Amino acid sequence: MKIGHQKKSINCLIWSLAMLVLSCQPQAALVDVHGDVQVLIPVNQTESKPSEQITSVTLKEIQSLGQVSGSYVHFYYSPGAKEGALQGSAPQAQFIRNKNGVYVAKDYLTQQMFTLYYHVQNLADFNTQISPDLKPTAPFSIGLNTKLQETNEASQNNAFYDGESNALLFVPYSLKNTPIAINSGIIAHEFFHSVFYKLVLKSFHAKQQSIFQSVDELTDSETQEKIKNNLYYNQTYIRGINEGVADFWGWIYTNNVDYISLSLPEFGGSRKMTLDKDLVGLFIEQQDIENKVKEALRVSSNPSEYLSGYIYKIGTPHARFLKELTTRISIENKIALKEAQLMMAKALYKMMIFVEKNNLLSNQDTKLEADGFFKYFAQPEISDLPLSAAQCDFVMKYLRSEKTLKTITGKTCKGANE
Ligand SMILES: [Zn+2]
Repeated sequence: MKIGHQKKSINCLIWSLAMLVLSCQPQAALVDVHGDVQVLIPVNQTESKPSEQITSVTLKEIQSLGQVSGSYVHFYYSPGAKEGALQGSAPQAQFIRNKNGVYVAKDYLTQQMFTLYYHVQNLADFNTQISPDLKPTAPFSIGLNTKLQETNEASQNNAFYDGESNALLFVPYSLKNTPIAINSGIIAHEFFHSVFYKLVLKSFHAKQQSIFQSVDELTDSETQEKIKNNLYYNQTYIRGINEGVADFWGWIYTNNVDYISLSLPEFGGSRKMTLDKDLVGLFIEQQDIENKVKEALRVSSNPSEYLSGYIYKIGTPHARFLKELTTRISIENKIALKEAQLMMAKALYKMMIFVEKNNLLSNQDTKLEADGFFKYFAQPEISDLPLSAAQCDFVMKYLRSEKTLKTITGKTCKGANE
């Protein structure tokens, strides 16, 4: 209960201010509104404007403003899940229309719905810009006030993408900072997970499951252990990449390297996407992941859960690498940052297709290379992302070892010293 009050107090302040300025009219005999609708939302998170500002935006293709549902989003309140889909009713939005015809949320729930609809709409449109194949075919399901068991560490102050139900789920937020459900960077982070799930994880999970089943039938315990090690190694590495690129997606959408800290200051700092000079070329190496996986298998009955914090350690150097390379491309090629970000998003999309097409994740006998991500960018003919000599040198700093260079079979980019 206390939680809700905290949220409301921040919220009331913002919205009472908005109402004061705009002299709103009461909602009285309002018929349900549809089409493109102007609403007020708090827009946060740019590096130059770190605080929230109330802005008027357009929600497109609304079918019912009473439920804030439309072509882009369908909301559920405290949903359950059944047979791979969210179950439950839509929350009722409460709003008023001001004299300029702009709709203003009357409560925190509606504020979340307006804000989420807007960001998911932008992110879906960005998907379509990357490739027509990424264009969403149905409204995105979003669960608000999702209730998890209280023993679950993530039952508060968190958001998830659930692949099975293809839904974004938000749990109650109890801190005094920007709530997660209106943090555009975190929304973009979670949204990326939906892309990664569809292109990579869905088939990866299916393959892993069938291998796990066959492993249990093996009688040779040594082979069994080896396969399990490989499975968890690959799973951990892929989860790390998923988190790293998701963090980068949040930066693409907000241009803020530290948007996580706006809601979760405790976790944000270590994932801030600024690449210090002395960290260039560093990432979590194969041996480190192997050791951590062995530890997880030794001490935990649920190794995946045990490794849940570790995957961000793998992800962050990748996020920083991507942000740095994108910034360099924008500055050195004299193109707008937005354009460089779209180029990078297209290269990442191609990478996900490449991984899936080449069946890189289905082999139970081999481990994925911990520098495989950087190798991809070192080969512009595969990534379709041309690199200048200086940009190539930057990428090659991640691939210094003799052993690594030998395993690149394709043509690499040309650095300044070649
Ligand atoms: Zn994530």
